[in-house]
Amino acid sequence: MTGQNHAAASRVLYVAASADEAELAALVFGRHWPAVSLIAVNETPALLDALAGGPFLAAVLDAGAHWAGGSALIPMLRRDNAALPLLILRDARDCSAAHSPEPACQSTEKCPAVFLRLPALVRSLVETPGSPAQSSAALEPLLDDAGIGWFLANRDGRLLEANAAFRRLIAADGKAAATSLNLAELSAAPGSLSRLLEQAAASETGIEERLPLRALDGSPLFVSLRLRRQDAAGALLRGLVEDHTARENRIHELETRIVSLESDQAELQHLTHFASHELQEPLRTVERFTRLLIEQCREFLNGTTDQHARLIVESTERAQRLVDDLLLYSRALNVPVRLERVDANRALAQALANVQALIEETGADVRRGPLPDTLRGDPRGLATLFQNLVANALKYRSTQKPRVEISAEPQGGEWRFAVRDNGEGIAENDRDRIFRPFERLHSHDEIPGTGLGLALCRRIAQSHGGSLWVESQPGEGSTFYFTLPAMEAPHESPR
Ligand code: ADP
Repeated sequence: MTGQNHAAASRVLYVAASADEAELAALVFGRHWPAVSLIAVNETPALLDALAGGPFLAAVLDAGAHWAGGSALIPMLRRDNAALPLLILRDARDCSAAHSPEPACQSTEKCPAVFLRLPALVRSLVETPGSPAQSSAALEPLLDDAGIGWFLANRDGRLLEANAAFRRLIAADGKAAATSLNLAELSAAPGSLSRLLEQAAASETGIEERLPLRALDGSPLFVSLRLRRQDAAGALLRGLVEDHTARENRIHELETRIVSLESDQAELQHLTHFASHELQEPLRTVERFTRLLIEQCREFLNGTTDQHARLIVESTERAQRLVDDLLLYSRALNVPVRLERVDANRALAQALANVQALIEETGADVRRGPLPDTLRGDPRGLATLFQNLVANALKYRSTQKPRVEISAEPQGGEWRFAVRDNGEGIAENDRDRIFRPFERLHSHDEIPGTGLGLALCRRIAQSHGGSLWVESQPGEGSTFYFTLPAMEAPHESPR
């Protein structure tokens, strides 16, 4: 008897007619299909030993093995596995076995050359014709070119075949190195691959999984693995492997950077909030005591010192406005907005009351269309939005009498508001940058401002899930639009 005690799923039984033929078959198998152990027997005790050793991938039965009962042995071979693939070598003169009624059974004429073809014949029995494994093998060069790994393994994980792409991926030096490998050695976590192999062997449709692996040189891999049964019993499994390591590394790198950026941003926001908050008190003190000093020392002040004192007050007031705006802006960045039912008419009324002095001073004509009373938003945020946009419309007026129109119209599940003015307008190149903090188109001496109003407005709109943008023609005025979510889906008014 010739043969080794390998894992059951990679064993093929050969019931030979003679010791010479058993030896010859084992020799050929060893050379052409080393991944499979041929258990070649030519006497009863060896046959019983082999049968006791567990299931086979396939069996080759020489019909002339009279010592074993010839084809009468078939029921015994198939006792545990009725679908065990069988190849019967029949005598050239025996026509009866040419078309065997047995399932998964082929017969071929026994001639001296048949031994050379034995591995190929058994393989064709095991691999269903046209099965994806065969196509995979045929497609091997294509899969290699595409960098897709392909392998065949038994359910215990022993690698039987692998294409070059798979060998490269796992850093196996050559074919021999790869086929002496058990896939379990590639597991990044103990048992992970063995579990998948078991699952795939039990599944009719196969499994697909993205998982980390470890190459033979220890380098980490991240792959997507598709595993399918090669035969009905799941003794053999074929796998397709795509390497996602580079992409996964990049994603990991980006995630780490995002986390670090988020933490930097949170720290920066905290610093801004803290600094502006802490600046409020000393600025108030400087302003109050400078005013007191001016009051108390009025008789000692001459034209120049009086002007100096007033400059201190003005600069302090300017710094206070900046700090106030910074605080509002950092609060809008830090504090999550609480959405409640808001009446836009009330928010606008509040905003107009706050800029009443400017409206009167400029003699502006402020018109308002019907606004929704069922918005989902933050009432203070909405009032701030209106207030800044209306104030800007008046601040950046042209030589004409200022006119501001506030309107709203439904759009899908939200409302689109418009604040239209007949002011100086904004050049196309400036329409984006004015929404960035501290970006101004005028010097402070021309028109005072902190450059934070529009940045704050955009932030408020965004924190409501909306957006803010401008359309404008220099010399003809600007329209600032913003969208806010409706409480219920608004009814589109017929146009
Ligand atoms: P501030 O008004 O304090 O300068 P904003 O962020 O509100 O800051 O505005 C930024 C810049 O955008 C302003 O300095 C101004 O140049 C321009 N701007 C804003 N609103 C208008 C408008 N309605 N018409 C023309 N220019 C405007």
